[in-house]
Amino acid sequence: VLGTGWAAVSFLKDLDISSYDVQVVSPRNYFAFTPLLPSVTCGTVEARSIVEPIRNIIKKKKGEIQFWEAECLAIDPVDKRILCRSTVDENLPGNDEFSLWYDYLVVAAGAQVNTFDTPGVLDHCHFLKEVEDAQRIRRTVIDCFEKAVLPDLSDEERRTNLHFVVVGGGPTGVEFAAELHDFVHEDLVKLYPSVKDFVSISLVHSGDHILNSFDERISSFAENKFQRDGIRVLTGNRVLSVTDRIINVNTKSTGENASIPHGMVVWSTGIGTRPFVKDFMQQIDQGNRRVLATDEWLRVKGCDDVYALGDCATINQKKIIEDISAIFKAADADNSGTLTVEEFKDVIEDIILRYPQVELYLKNKHLFDPADLLKEVEGNDKQEVDIEGFKTALCNADSQMKSLPATAQVAAQQGAYLAHCFNVWEKCKSEPEGPRKFRSGGRHEFRPFRYRHLGQFAPLGGEQAAAELPGDWVSIGRSTQWLWYSIYASKQVSWRTRFLVVGDWTRRFIFGRDSSRI
Ligand code: FAD
Ligand code: MG
Repeated sequence: VLGTGWAAVSFLKDLDISSYDVQVVSPRNYFAFTPLLPSVTCGTVEARSIVEPIRNIIKKKKGEIQFWEAECLAIDPVDKRILCRSTVDENLPGNDEFSLWYDYLVVAAGAQVNTFDTPGVLDHCHFLKEVEDAQRIRRTVIDCFEKAVLPDLSDEERRTNLHFVVVGGGPTGVEFAAELHDFVHEDLVKLYPSVKDFVSISLVHSGDHILNSFDERISSFAENKFQRDGIRVLTGNRVLSVTDRIINVNTKSTGENASIPHGMVVWSTGIGTRPFVKDFMQQIDQGNRRVLATDEWLRVKGCDDVYALGDCATINQKKIIEDISAIFKAADADNSGTLTVEEFKDVIEDIILRYPQVELYLKNKHLFDPADLLKEVEGNDKQEVDIEGFKTALCNADSQMKSLPATAQVAAQQGAYLAHCFNVWEKCKSEPEGPRKFRSGGRHEFRPFRYRHLGQFAPLGGEQAAAELPGDWVSIGRSTQWLWYSIYASKQVSWRTRFLVVGDWTRRFIFGRDSSRI
C-alpha cells in the first residue's frame, strides 16, 4: 500500500488482514486529518491534534502490517516490484534505497500542489497541503505582524507586510481566508493595535465566482460575507507571476495587468500528479493522460494487479452507449428483436449497477419507475422497443457522467470499498456479487465502486458555515457551524485526536489563539 492518507488508512482499517501480508510505504508515518489543516494555519487547532501515528492505527489491527517510512520512487509493473527510498535522516547508518515485491499494489499516494508553471510560485508562495505547510503559514503570519510593528517602517511598508493574498477560491482557499480574518480580528489586532488599520486580505480567483463547486446560494453568501468582512475578492483574475514582494495579476474582463505588493501569498489552486505516478503512467500507455485512470473497480488500466484510489487516480466510467447493442441482445430474452417492459425490468438493476449514470438520469427526469423510460420513446404505445428505440431511451444518460471530486470523502469511500473487495475475494470467485456482464455473459465478481455524496461544508469564519446536505438541502449560518463542529469531531480517526481537537476548540473559545512564533 502506497500512502498513509485518507484512502490508504480507510483501506487498512477495513481490510481483513488474516489472509494478506500487508506492507505500507509512505514518507509520512502519520495520517493527517486534512479538513482541519486550515484551522492549523492560525492555531485554532494544534498540528499534533489532527495527526495520528500510522503505527497506532496498524497496532489496533492485531496482525502483521509492516510500515516503512520511505517514498516510492518507481513502480515496475512487469516485475511487480517497487523501488523505495527512505526519507529518514540520510546521516544515520544504513542503506536508503530498497525494493519490495508485490502481488497486489494499492496506489494511494495522493496528489501534489499544482502551480500551473506560474513563474515564482514555487519559490515565493506558501501552500496548504501538508501539516508542515500549515505550520509554516502560522509562523509567517506572525512574522508579518512582528515585522510590521518594527520602528522606522513607512506606512506603505507596514501595509505591504500586512497584505495577505490567497490564490484560489475553492473550499480550501476560502476557508483559509476566513480563518485568517478571524485570527486577525479576534486575536492579533488586540496584540498589535498600532498596525490594525494596515491589515488587508485579498482572495484572487480565476473563475467568476468563488466556491463554484457549491450551490449558487452558498457561493453568493460567501461573497457577500467576505465583502462585509473587508476581504477583497478579486474574481476573474489570473495570476501571471509572483515575486517575494509583488504578485502580478491579469484581469480577464479588462485585459489589464496589475502589480499588487504583498507580505505573504498562499497558493491553493488545484492539484497535480506526482512524478513517480507520471512515470508509471508512461510505462502503461497512459502517458498522454493527466491523471492515472482506473476502471470502476479501481483497477489501473493497462496493467495487472495494481489498484489506484483517492486523489492520485480517476475512474474512467464506461459509457452505456458503447455497450448498448450488447445490453439489448442480453436483455431480449426471447430473441424477438424487441424489448418488452418485463424484459427491460429484468436487466435494469444490472444496468444501474454497471452504469450509475442511468440512475442519475432517471432521477433528473423524475422517472421513479425505470420502465417509464421505454414508454417515453416517441410513438411507443405497444410498450415495446426495438434497438433504435432503446438507444433513444438511453442515449442521453451518458451526459450525466461526472468525474468524482478530489476529496477525502471520495478517497475514504474508495478505501473502504477496495478493502471490501479484498475481504470477499475468495467468496466472490464462486458467488460473484457484481452485475451481469452484458458482452461476455456471466457476472462481474464485485460490484463496481459507487460514490455516495454526503454533502460538503464551507466554514466562512465568524462562527458561520455553509453546507450542502444530502437531498439538495442548503444550510447557512451559526447552527451550520455547530453541525460542522460535531461532524468533524465525529470523523476523527481516533478517540485521542477527537479529544485533542475538541480540547483545542474549547481552549480557543476561552483563551483565544496562541500567537507565539514557534
Ligand atoms: P492523501 O490524503 O494526500 O494521502 C497521500 C499519502 O501518500 C500521504 O500519506 C503521503 O505521505 C503519501 N505519499 C506521497 N508521496 C508518496 C510516495 N512517493 N510514495 C508513497 N507514499 C507517498 N476533502 C474533504 O472531503 N473535505 C474537506 O473538508 C477537505 N479539506 C481539505 C483541506 C485541505 C487544506 C486540503 C489540502 C485538502 C482537503 N480535502 C478535503 C481534500 C482531501 O484531503 C484529499 O482529497 C484527500 O487527502 C485525498 O486522499 P488520498 O488518500 O488520495 O491522499
Ligand atoms: Mg423480446
